[in-house]
Amino acid sequence: GMRFTRLRLSGFKSFVDPTELVIAPGLTGVVGPNGCGKSNLLEALRWVMGESRPTAMRGGGMEDVIFAGAATRPARHHAEVTLVIDNTDRLAPAAFNDADTLDVVRRITRDAGSAYRVGAKEARARDVQMLFADASTGAHSQALVRQGQIAELINAKPAQRRRILEEAAGISGLYQRRHEAELK
Ligand code: ATP
Ligand code: MG
Repeated sequence: GMRFTRLRLSGFKSFVDPTELVIAPGLTGVVGPNGCGKSNLLEALRWVMGESRPTAMRGGGMEDVIFAGAATRPARHHAEVTLVIDNTDRLAPAAFNDADTLDVVRRITRDAGSAYRVGAKEARARDVQMLFADASTGAHSQALVRQGQIAELINAKPAQRRRILEEAAGISGLYQRRHEAELK
């Protein structure tokens, strides 16, 4: 499938300084003390994948993802997140399918909204959302498991468990794809 290999953040929530994370094959866990930025990291992943609901980003407005300043640091003017994808299997949509590695970049500037790039090309939010909707439907798809979902999973009745697993495995991507088809 399309494997995520790196996540780069700059000015995104608590990640004010440029930060790069290598995403190894297999299961990745994020651990650390309260408030260290675990949830912010997951939000950065969702955000670069095209998340458009401020509520999903725990903010009042989309600009709230920009580093808001701290006692010793001024606020930032923009935030940027890059997700690097291994595309050697050439599973990306045709418009973006010309390279072994794809950089998906989302940037937001105060008062100027957000813009996306896939590789060297400008992209629309919808292009990026569809890219990941497609990528999330395979057996080896990338799945995001929220904090607390593991405990929910353990305690859940079978029907609930199925809903949680579907959500984590991105079956919702399938529904989004179908909705998109119905609109055409
Ligand atoms: P927990 O274990 O409690 O769930 P966590 O590791 O998930 O913690 P996060 O919720 O990711 O932690 O990070 C919270 C921190 O991020 C807080 O210190 C908060 O002030 C900071 N933060 C969130 N948004 C911004 C922003 N826009 N600018 C600066 N800091 C921010
Ligand atoms: Mg958290």
